[in-house]
Amino acid sequence: MMFMTKMMIEIRNLLQRVGQSSTVTLPAIVVIGSQSSGKSSVLEAIVGHEFLPKGTNMVTRRPIELTLVNDPDAKHDYAEFPDIGLPKTTDFSLVQKTLTELNQAVPESECVTDDPIRLTIHSPKVPDLSLIDLPGYIQVAGENQPRELKRKISELCDKYIRGPNIILAISAADVDLANSTALQASRRVDPRGERTIGVITKMDLVDPEKGAAILTDRQYPLRLGYVGVVSKLPAQTGLFKRDPGNLLSIISRNEKAFFSQHPSEFGPNAGINIGTVTLRKKLMHVLEQQMSSKLQATTDAIQRELEETTYQYRVQYNEEPMTAEAYLASSLDDFKHQFHQFARSFGRPQMHDLLKAALDQRVLDQLAARYWNKPIDDLSSAPREPENLVDLPKADPKSPHWHMQLDMASSALTRLGVGRLATAVVSSAIQSDVDRLISKSAFSKHPSARQVISDAAATVLADRAYTTSDGIEFSLKPYKFEVDIQPQEWQQGRDHVGDVLKTELEQCRAAMKNLESNVGGKGKLKEVMTFVDKARKGDIVIEGESSNGAGGFSASLLARGREAVFLRDRADIINMRMMAVKSRQCKSLENKYYCPEIFLDAVATKLTQTAVLFLNVEMLNDFYARFPREVETKLSEQMAGGGLERFAQEDAKIRRHLDLIKRKELLELVLTKINTLHTIGSHELGNGGAG
Ligand code: GDP
Repeated sequence: MMFMTKMMIEIRNLLQRVGQSSTVTLPAIVVIGSQSSGKSSVLEAIVGHEFLPKGTNMVTRRPIELTLVNDPDAKHDYAEFPDIGLPKTTDFSLVQKTLTELNQAVPESECVTDDPIRLTIHSPKVPDLSLIDLPGYIQVAGENQPRELKRKISELCDKYIRGPNIILAISAADVDLANSTALQASRRVDPRGERTIGVITKMDLVDPEKGAAILTDRQYPLRLGYVGVVSKLPAQTGLFKRDPGNLLSIISRNEKAFFSQHPSEFGPNAGINIGTVTLRKKLMHVLEQQMSSKLQATTDAIQRELEETTYQYRVQYNEEPMTAEAYLASSLDDFKHQFHQFARSFGRPQMHDLLKAALDQRVLDQLAARYWNKPIDDLSSAPREPENLVDLPKADPKSPHWHMQLDMASSALTRLGVGRLATAVVSSAIQSDVDRLISKSAFSKHPSARQVISDAAATVLADRAYTTSDGIEFSLKPYKFEVDIQPQEWQQGRDHVGDVLKTELEQCRAAMKNLESNVGGKGKLKEVMTFVDKARKGDIVIEGESSNGAGGFSASLLARGREAVFLRDRADIINMRMMAVKSRQCKSLENKYYCPEIFLDAVATKLTQTAVLFLNVEMLNDFYARFPREVETKLSEQMAGGGLERFAQEDAKIRRHLDLIKRKELLELVLTKINTLHTIGSHELGNGGAG
């Protein structure tokens, strides 16, 4: 019959895993008692090890679901926490430490939680038992304990002491039974005392007659009776360290010594139950009885639950199988597919456009700095016309000034660090494309996997950045000394820079519109601009512009006015240069000194083309080859050690699907086990009948 209890406990633990919503379960023994009633001491004596958190402060914040497994083959007693990835341990002080930490992890504000810690202890010396240790009842909340702690503990205990669980109600002999919180609680849910075992601790602290009287109590009769124990350990001498595996024998020797001193009260004829060993036997017996008696009802309930689950599986998921592995594999496949599609759409032309656009800006910067600049000084200084701009249409191709201007602008372009720029521009474009792909993929619902993939892209890109940028610089070296532009390239530059100027002009106008609405209309902005213009021409003399502004305009309004003047002038210049670029004068390469815009654009194109050749070989191809592999490696690292389960659970839809399947499988497994149990049971009964 021992074997049956073991199997029933196994079934009970499986049922616990079926899920919160399931009410189908087999009974366990729930241990309740006031703080300091000796609850921990009793439990530890039963287990034979000191393993529970100790301390004056209340440390039990979570129920401990303790499964004792009688394991005749175990060489050493060992414990394991099936829900957390800790290895089995034979070190019970480590168990104690872990329990303390798990308890302390519950936030103070929450007081206690009903999320149990599962702990299994294997030993050849323990009986098969399923025990639940609950936080001890407190009488008055301590100074630094939240006020609702008392109520919360009581509610938590109420939840567990419901039927069909067996209640182990611990009371100390030196406290009047009428005041025992444990018995009071048990009487509320089990008024006839049918599933409560009374344990009276600290029998050594009261007169033997009084102690014996408690055990035969008539006032609070319990069908399963009372057991008296002395579970305090004798003080350690210090010379000999206690054999930790021997706790029960020390306690029971101690108990025997005590009880045998009072044979008339505690002798075999007294008709009472005493001693921890007796208590253990009683627990085994009662648990087995209670479990067996509930087995049929539980089996029926499981059957119904399985039918319902199977029905849901069919209706909701069309019986489609699902595993965390399969989900990851298909997510990864989809992602790779999307990535390959992207790879086909992103190559040299796209890199060319990106880099050219970045260089277009640099060309505009050079033009502004060397040809178009119209300095906006502060309002009090005298105005200055941009000489270069005024003179540009009359530029003498033989004049060294114009040669130098163009040479300097061109050399500034070739030397601006195109290698770095190209690598950065392309890397960041790829990175944001990859991030976009991720956010459209199944991984978008998985923050950490998302990060891993994004990081994989960054790593592979960064790996090549230095050599690529170096290679580009090397290949651009000749241009740093001379750029030879062909007539066709001139023509292309002329077309392209026309567009660039047009876009720039549109942007100027948009910014202007923005300013208008910012200051409250076109009229207002005009007023400020007129003021700024006058001030610059010297028509108005402003003596030191204060932070309060000038001319009746606030400082911030003036700043906007200046910005508007700048934008207007820039728009004028760009307009002028657009016309120049389109004019006959700029048609031919010979006139490059008149038309620096075209020349610089052609230079930028040359730089782009060369850089892109390099980018393609050094960076892009390498990225396309390595990135998918890097993703796979990094993801599989993340999926190790329970990561895969966590990953799949992050997606609510997948989680529900997986949970349903798991539930169905568990219920099926439980039913198989119950059937085995029935077979063994009837077999044993048959044998019993024959014998
Ligand atoms: P818990 O708070 O209910 O878990 O109580 P403990 O098991 O920690 O015991 C509270 C105190 O009572 C400890 O100092 C124990 O050593 C002591 N104690 C426990 N059982 C006995 C016993 O049977 N006799 C005596 N004299 N002291 C005990």
